[in-house]
Parts: sequence; C-alpha cells; structure tokens
Amino acid sequence: MTSHEIRQAFLDFFKSKGHLIVPSAPLVAKNDPTLMFNNSGMAQFKDFFLGNGTPPSKRIADTQKCLRVSGKHNDLEDVGFDTYHHTMFEMLGNWSFGDYFKKEALEWSWELLTGIYKLPKDRIYVSVFKGDEKDGVPFDQEAWDIWKAILGGEERIILGNKKDNFWEMGDVGPCGPCSEIHIDLRDQAEVDVKPGKELVNADHPQVVEIWNNVFMQFERKADGSLITLPAKHVDTGMGFERLCMAIQGKQSNYDTDIFQNTIQVIEKMCGKKYGVSGTLNTSDYTDIAMRVIADHLRAVSFAIADGQLPSNAKAGYVIRRILRRAIRYGYSYLGFTEPFMSQLVPVLAEQFKNVFPELKSQEEFVTRVVLEEEKSFLRTLELGIKRFESLSPTGGVIDGNIVFELSDTYGFPVDLTALLAKEKGYKIDEAGYEKALAEQKNRSRQDAAKEATDWVEISEGSDFEFLGYDTLEATAQLIKYRKVKTKAGEEYHIVLDRTPFYAEMGGQVGDTGELRITNGELRIINIVDTKKENDLFIHVSRDKNLDELLIAPHSSLIAKVDAHRRQNIMRNHTATHLMLAAMRRVLGTHIVQKGSYQNDEVTRFDFSHFAKVTDEELAQIEAIVNGKIRENIALKTHVNIPIDEAIKMGATATFGEKYGDFVRVVEFDPNFSVELCGGTHVPATGEISLFKFISEGSVSAGVRRVEAVTGEKAFELLNDELRITNTLRDMFKGQKDVVKAVEGLLAEKAALQKRIEALENEKLAQVKDALLTQVTHTNGVASLIARVEVPNADALKSLVYQLKEQSQAPFYIVLGTVLGGKPQLAVMLSDDLVAQGKHAGNIVKELAKEVKGGGGGQPFFATAGGSDASGLDAALAKAKGIV
Ligand code: ATP
Ligand code: MG
Repeated sequence: MTSHEIRQAFLDFFKSKGHLIVPSAPLVAKNDPTLMFNNSGMAQFKDFFLGNGTPPSKRIADTQKCLRVSGKHNDLEDVGFDTYHHTMFEMLGNWSFGDYFKKEALEWSWELLTGIYKLPKDRIYVSVFKGDEKDGVPFDQEAWDIWKAILGGEERIILGNKKDNFWEMGDVGPCGPCSEIHIDLRDQAEVDVKPGKELVNADHPQVVEIWNNVFMQFERKADGSLITLPAKHVDTGMGFERLCMAIQGKQSNYDTDIFQNTIQVIEKMCGKKYGVSGTLNTSDYTDIAMRVIADHLRAVSFAIADGQLPSNAKAGYVIRRILRRAIRYGYSYLGFTEPFMSQLVPVLAEQFKNVFPELKSQEEFVTRVVLEEEKSFLRTLELGIKRFESLSPTGGVIDGNIVFELSDTYGFPVDLTALLAKEKGYKIDEAGYEKALAEQKNRSRQDAAKEATDWVEISEGSDFEFLGYDTLEATAQLIKYRKVKTKAGEEYHIVLDRTPFYAEMGGQVGDTGELRITNGELRIINIVDTKKENDLFIHVSRDKNLDELLIAPHSSLIAKVDAHRRQNIMRNHTATHLMLAAMRRVLGTHIVQKGSYQNDEVTRFDFSHFAKVTDEELAQIEAIVNGKIRENIALKTHVNIPIDEAIKMGATATFGEKYGDFVRVVEFDPNFSVELCGGTHVPATGEISLFKFISEGSVSAGVRRVEAVTGEKAFELLNDELRITNTLRDMFKGQKDVVKAVEGLLAEKAALQKRIEALENEKLAQVKDALLTQVTHTNGVASLIARVEVPNADALKSLVYQLKEQSQAPFYIVLGTVLGGKPQLAVMLSDDLVAQGKHAGNIVKELAKEVKGGGGGQPFFATAGGSDASGLDAALAKAKGIV
C-alpha cells in the first residue's frame, strides 16, 4: 500500500463505523493559551471534552498535522538521530464523545491493523495501565479483559505505569488510563533471540509504539484530586509515518514513500547517497543531515502555509529555529553553502497537493519566505564561524558563555561548536553552557508564569450565545469565574451564559465595558478585555476583591460594552474588508491575508505581495474604498451556511484559520467584498465616513504591511495636516502657491550658502596673509602665535594647514579662537621639530589647562577645546615659552 492508500483506508474504515471525517486543524493553535502548535489530534476537540461545546457528531475521525517542538511534547533534538520521531507528523485519530468506549475502540483498532492492514498478529504488543495507589487510580481491568479476549491470551499484554499509560490534558482537566499498541519490526532471527515483549518502551527503533488509545473517565481538580466524569470519551492517536513503515515493511520512517522522494532530490543536489552505512546506522552524519532536512522541510513549509512566519519571538521563533537546524546540518555535513531548502518546497507541495492543498496553493510564497530566511541565516553562519575563528580560549577551553552566545546569537547548536572546537584541538565548557542556558530558560519561564485557580461554578448555563452582532447591552447570568495571577497582577476571568462582548479573534480586539450587578445596590465591574479560550468567552477584570460580589446572589446582571470604542473598532474592521477587496483589484488576486489587527484606533493588515505598494497604488486603493463608503453599502451576513457554498459565493478563506463545516459570511455588495468572518461590522459602509492610509512597509520576505485609520481618526489626521498647511499659508501671506514659495525659499537658501562660503574663504585668505606678517624668529625657529577669528572649527584647521604650506621649517604655529563662546586651540609643528622630540599633542594639552579643557592629536598637529574663553590669552602667552 502506498502512504496515500494507507491514510485513505484509515478514514474509510472509521467512516464505515459511523464516524464523521473532518479536516485537519491548522498546525498553528488558535485560541488556546496553553499551546503554540497542535501537538495531537485531540487538540482541536478540547472544548468538547471540557464541555464547552457540542461536537458535530459523537464519532469523529481525521488525520491531524502535529508539531512536537515545544512545551510538553518536544522531540526536536531526537529528530534525525532516530528513525521514528518527527517534528511534524500526521496523527490519525478516532474519537468518541460520550458514545462508544473501550470495547469498540480496542476491537476496531485490532480489526483495522490486522484485518485491513494485515500486520502480523504475533508482532503486536499492547499495554494496559497497572494503576497507581498514590493517585487513587485503579488497574484498568476492563481494558485487560478486552485485550485478553481479542488476543486469545495474556502473553502479549504489558502492564504500564503512570508515565506511559495515564494521560492528562494538563495540570487540571480530563484524564484517564490509556492503552498503547506497539509493533516489533525486527528480523525473525533477532526475534528468536530476544522476544519483543522485553523491548517495548525501551527506545528500540524497531519495536515502536504506533497507536495510543486514551480513555477519558476522570477529571483532575486543582487540589490534585480526581473525580469520575459522567460522560466517558475515547481519544486515539496513531502515528501515520510509523504505521506506513510497518505496513511497507521498512525499518525506518524515512524509508517509506513519505520521505523517499525528498531524500532522493537531496541526494541529487549534494551528490551524496543516503543509507550507505545501513538504514539503522544512526551515527552517520550524512544520513542524519538528510533525515533532518527531509523532516524539517515539512514542519517549516506547513507552518508557513498555515500562517506562521519565521520571526524573532514565540511561535515564529520556533519555526525559525527548526529551519536553521536544517540549514545548519546541510551546511556542515552535505556541503550546502547556498540556499537549498527553498528548492525542496515545490517537491513537498506536489506530493501533498491532494491531502493538504494549502501548501500547493501558496507554493511561491512559502518558497520565497524560506529562501529569504536561508540567505540571511547562511550569512549569520559565516559571521558565527568568523567569531569562532577569532577566539583564543585560555587553556584551550571555550567559555560556556561564549558557547551560549554562539548558539543564541548565531544559532550554533552546541554540537556544532563542539565539532568546530575539536577540529582546532579545543574543548568546550559544557557545564558553563548548561548554566547559561538554564538561566535563560528560567528568565523565559518567569515571563510566561501564570497561575490559575479552579473555576468557581456559580450557575448552570444553557447553550452559550454571543449577542454582540446586534446589541451592545444585555442581561446575562453569571456561569463561573476564576482568579489568575499574571506578571501584570491579579485578574478575574468571568464567564456569562450570554454576552454582547466580542472576544479577541480574527484580528479584531476584544471589547471593554462593564458588568453592572445589582444586589440591593448597583456595583460595577470594569471589563478591560475579552478573550477567547477555546470556545469560552472570558471577560477580564483587574478590579480587586470581587469574590464576595461574584459569589453572592444578585437580582440582575447587565453586560454593557463600551459602545464608542466598539463603533470605532467596527469601522476599522469593515474598512479592512473594503481595503482587501480594493487591493485585489489594484494589486492583483494574489493578495492573501497574512495577518490582521483592528482596534479602535487603527487597522493593520499584512499581506503577501512582492513589491513595495507605490504611492499611486495606495491612492487608487484609497479612492476605491472611499467610493464604497460613499455608496453606503448595507451589511449582509449569511449565518451558518455550508463552507462549500460560502466558497462558491466568492468568499476567500484565510490559510491557517480553522473553519467549521458551517461558516459566517460577511458581504458588502456581493460583487465587491465577500469574506468568511466572525467579526463585528458597521450596518452600512457610510458609517466609516473616511478611510486613509498612514503607512506602508515590509514585515518580512514577501509580506507587506499597511496601516490605515477611519472615521474620527481619519478626520483628525486630515485636520492636523490642514492645520500645518494653513499655518504655512499664513506665513506666506499674499502668495498663491505655498509649495512654490517654499521651493523658492530653499533655492534661495542654497544660493546664499554658496555665497557665504565664498566670502568666508576670501576672508580666511586675508586673515592668513595678515598672520604671515606676524611671524617672529627665535633661535632659528619661525613661530606664529595668534588669536584669530574664524567661522568654525574646520576653518581653523584649514587655516593652520594653509599657513604650514607657506612657512619655512623649522616652524611652530599656535592659533586660538572662540567659537560659540568656547575656546579652541590648534598647534602645528614642522617635521624637523617633531624629529627633535617635540609633540604637538603634548603641547596642546599643556595649553588647554589655561582654558579648562583638554585635547590631543598627532605629533605634528593637535587641537584642543575648553570651557573658559577668558583663559585663551593666557594660553597663547604660555605657548610663547614652550618652543
Ligand atoms: P513516543 O513515546 O514514541 O514518543 P508518545 O507517547 O509521545 O510516543 P503519543 O503522545 O501517545 O506518543 O502519540 C500518539 C502516537 O503518535 C504515537 O503512538 C506515535 O505513533 C505517534 N507519535 C508520537 N510522537 C511522534 C513523533 N515525534 N513523530 C512521529 N510520530 C509520533
Ligand atoms: Mg513522545
């Protein structure tokens, strides 16, 4: 079976068991403060397990793009060195939300693996949770019995501990025992010597876990206790690449058709062969480098296609680091000194065009982003190697802080530094490096630190309703709240059964406002932000001591959004839609949203485009948008329509956004702007009143950013500009064209400046001639010591040099002047005096003492400045006695 057939067979199998097949969520996690990237199939269904939402079906299956490079699951450092851990991999999964449980889940997994995929039954081992007394969770007898019946015996069942066989969503939340399925892929000869059972969970590359079945039956509270869940769920995850290895009879994930074509292209590009020293030789650096590249290419390309650009912070930095790791291995072990990853993007896009089409449709963009990153990192690598070459470590040991600097600033992993060091016969201070690294980790952990208490449940809510499309004020019921300690201080998170507050999403900022609680008297809770956490709308308040108020029964609660602010936000959001439509007309249909942000002051919009947007283009876009504002087009929303229909209407989906099967479409003129959007908008475009760009620039390779203002802000902006021109007009009273008047002034100024320079030069020549008549001779040395008037310091220097030209050696010149109230001195000596040991720098320093200053310079010429002009004559008098 090819990998495509294997994936399809999985989906078909679960479809036949009544499962709804859904698309993979994007790699980049949205609305989940605990996750940067989706790292398992269940991530997109979290809300269903937490009870914050209802799944579209009680049985779901899919393949999910996962990335395990940060947080709880981080496999990055293993990738390339082993043959079965990836950064990005596909996780095939099936779920039961309060429907079937252990029996069906385990029987179906057996049926699929052995019946459809025909994996050998005697090579499969399964594990069951053995229980944990300390935690009060029992041995999973149920799973044991089911497996015993399926396998017809107990020989291939293994008992597992809490680490391997008990799954928890986080510190708090749903959890339960799991049952893993492992497969032994070794040769029969090896199996005969040592049974597979002894190698399960022992990091053997050919006895690997392929599938994990999690049974959620408990919930962990903040105090550590467990309660049994009323509805039990199944969550399974099978590593697609490992499954393909098993079915295709390979010994390594990289030998399957998923990776082979990329590896073959890499072989051609570098002229080296993969696997020469044997598939399982995991210390052959040619092979390691090829595995790293083939793997990281996928992670980086799909992350960029899903909207995560490489950058300096957070998720963007994680992607940058993965890309750099690949470039570095290519550079060090395959001899790639020029960009190469970008050339592989099209290979990958082609391979996945039917599974994850988002890459193919953005092939050019992704290629470009990767290329720019490569170019800049290859430059950094070169600089880093120069920095390394410049080191002369004491005792041949490179300081830990320098090793850290190389990794932090130049992206050199420790092993690269160690390798370079070895070549030079140096050692590296690993302990020192670990210490520097730990310190940095500590710093970033403290930055992220956030502590939450359990939710305090106040009342049972019915289905949540967002009212903010139609109203900004509504009565509501308090459902629950919790306190969260953040770096900024303590916050209350408040959840209502319904709310007009829009929670930050899709670029639009969250609403602010107040909750008005009446309990005898009226009390007001200030809401400073509204955020979405999974599907919960969280009203954030920084007011102090709210517990008593929140817990006490009250007669009414009114949620009231700051309407003025919200209206400005809506103006900016609607204007963004009009702007995108206008951009597509003016710049082309390749314009794709890469980021967007709207608050009450500004709209900021990032989009793919490869050139600067010219002033004329910006003016054209502005004109179209303002035209549409004047047309006063009414908002039309289509709620809950099937996604296919929305696409047919011309709506464009943004890559990396997760859409359900049913979507909301926001339309301003069906022939102009149709967008998939959950945001709030003005009822008709006329409310925007005015639209004005304020900036255009580049964010990163292939991505431009514009900022614009609307309504009040745009009006203020134009008024400010008008005020400036009006002031100018007043200053140029009587002149019709102010611009011409200013141009005239500038031209006149330039001409005057030229004339002044000429006059100054003339004057300087006169001064020089006069000075030459003051030369005196003592002991055969011509000396000229005088106070002069010059326009600036350059003129003083130039005067001294001109005098030098016209003086007979040996000579000694000292000039003093006052510039802007500050004394200045210059000393010049002929070369023969210098040869006798005289030094202009020392002389000027001595003289400068009289003017409370200092200076220095070369032996033949030096200058000094001071702070006391009244001492200048004394300085010149002193000069007479020195040479
Ligand atoms: P392992 O112990 O091998 O790292 P895991 O316990 O981390 O696996 P789970 O979190 O249970 O794995 O994920 C479910 C399945 O996903 C695993 O059975 C495995 O087949 C696959 N998987 C996990 N991590 C990776 C990875 N980094 N690359 C490829 N497949 C993986
Ligand atoms: Mg793991």
